[in-house]
Amino acid sequence: MLMNVHPIPTVSERINDVRALTAQIVNKEILPNENLLWAKRANARLAPSDIEASRKLREHIKTVVKQTGLWAPHLPAEYGGAGLDFLELAYMNEVLAYAIGAASLFGVVAPNSGNQSLLVKYGTDAQKQKWLIPLINGELESGFSMTEPDEPGSDPRSLKTTARRDGEEWVINGHKWFTSNGFKADFFIVMCRTEDTQGGSETSSRMTQIIVPSSAPGVNIVRGITVWGVESDHCEIIYDNVRVPIDNQLGSRGSGHLAAQDRLGAGRIYHCMNSIGQMWRAFDMMVERAMAREVHGGLLETKQFIQGFIADSYMDIQAARLMTIHCAEKMAANADPRTDISAIKVFVPAAYERVVDRAIQVWGAAGVSGDLPLSAMYQGARTLRIADGPDEVHRILIAKNVLSQYHRGTGWDFGT
Ligand SMILES: Cc1cc2nc3c(=O)[nH]c(=O)nc-3n(C[C@H](O)[C@H](O)[C@H](O)COP(=O)(O)OP(=O)(O)OC[C@H]3O[C@@H](n4cnc5c(N)ncnc54)[C@H](O)[C@@H]3O)c2cc1C
Repeated sequence: MLMNVHPIPTVSERINDVRALTAQIVNKEILPNENLLWAKRANARLAPSDIEASRKLREHIKTVVKQTGLWAPHLPAEYGGAGLDFLELAYMNEVLAYAIGAASLFGVVAPNSGNQSLLVKYGTDAQKQKWLIPLINGELESGFSMTEPDEPGSDPRSLKTTARRDGEEWVINGHKWFTSNGFKADFFIVMCRTEDTQGGSETSSRMTQIIVPSSAPGVNIVRGITVWGVESDHCEIIYDNVRVPIDNQLGSRGSGHLAAQDRLGAGRIYHCMNSIGQMWRAFDMMVERAMAREVHGGLLETKQFIQGFIADSYMDIQAARLMTIHCAEKMAANADPRTDISAIKVFVPAAYERVVDRAIQVWGAAGVSGDLPLSAMYQGARTLRIADGPDEVHRILIAKNVLSQYHRGTGWDFGT
């Protein structure tokens, strides 16, 4: 089934154009070719001619994306990106995510894309030349190395990896894990404690992000961690007396925590729009199957259990989408979106998980097979409840913000 995208009356013409152009590529170029494009991921046995056809198809789609002016939508035009503003990109993500894996064909590949945005915002001219431009051109790969096995990622102020200044160098020592893209990365952006090398500080202003080439002596990639039963490129890494020039510091000393929040704030809205695109896809697949599969003398669509799945999923998607758009509009209007970001970070992945769960149920065994994208979506939805701040942390933030408002003597204004 193709994605059914029509202009939204309440948004700008540009947003509608971006949505329509993205949907055109998704519907015409990607969805009809998904089996060939992602056969390798589904572990299908591929003939050499299919591998070559798949590669050629990717190149063709990337060319179409570039011609349409949608390449690297997260980057400003001066860096070869589409130069979209925040809302345009949020609305685009929803459409793009409908086709699983399509973002890579539009030049958005995590964690490179997040690192590119960090380098655009915090990099010096020299860092941009050395790391950003080759990263954008696909000549380099990267990773973001923050989480540690021995400290809670939910409380990034507790991280123990240190960077000690020694003359014109930083000397880095620490133990990280879940650094995605670890095997391929040519460099890592490593979150280090720079001010208080003894550890134990509660302040967030002591963290600094430092660029570390993966070839630097002392960068030891221990393993790719098995995730959902499959060995992955989310790597465990030991930084053992790694020396890099002080010029590799990204942003000002002590700005690491702020920069990470920056990356995560808007990023969480984009991720939620992605989840909504994927829920939309799962919903279409569920309804389509319900209309075609006959069991016990009738189509699934005539069974009330299944009608309940459809109705509940419709409500989940609408609620998740409206909450996320409300939050995005607040962010775009420079209002304080923090409570709303936490709310969508909890609500949307959970709604996504529920919708995909129902779609899997309707598809039966096929739902958990590698023939359909649903099982990967399910794992993705579950993982999202941990990554970028687990549910509990965001629930605490919501309650804290609400309570502080009431303590100030006013109730919550749900109208803004
Ligand atoms: C697939 C994947 C890819 C990732 N990629 C990267 C990456 O590229 N770079 C990187 O640096 N990190 C990455 N991460 C790590 C991710 O950011 C962390 O897992 C996340 O921040 C949570 O940290 P933690 O695992 O240490 O859990 P912890 O902080 O130990 O939390 C464990 C659990 O404790 C509970 N909890 C936490 N705080 C509270 C509280 N105050 N009250 C009650 N309960 C609480 C929550 O249920 C939480 O799930 C990735 C993770 C995954 C799964």
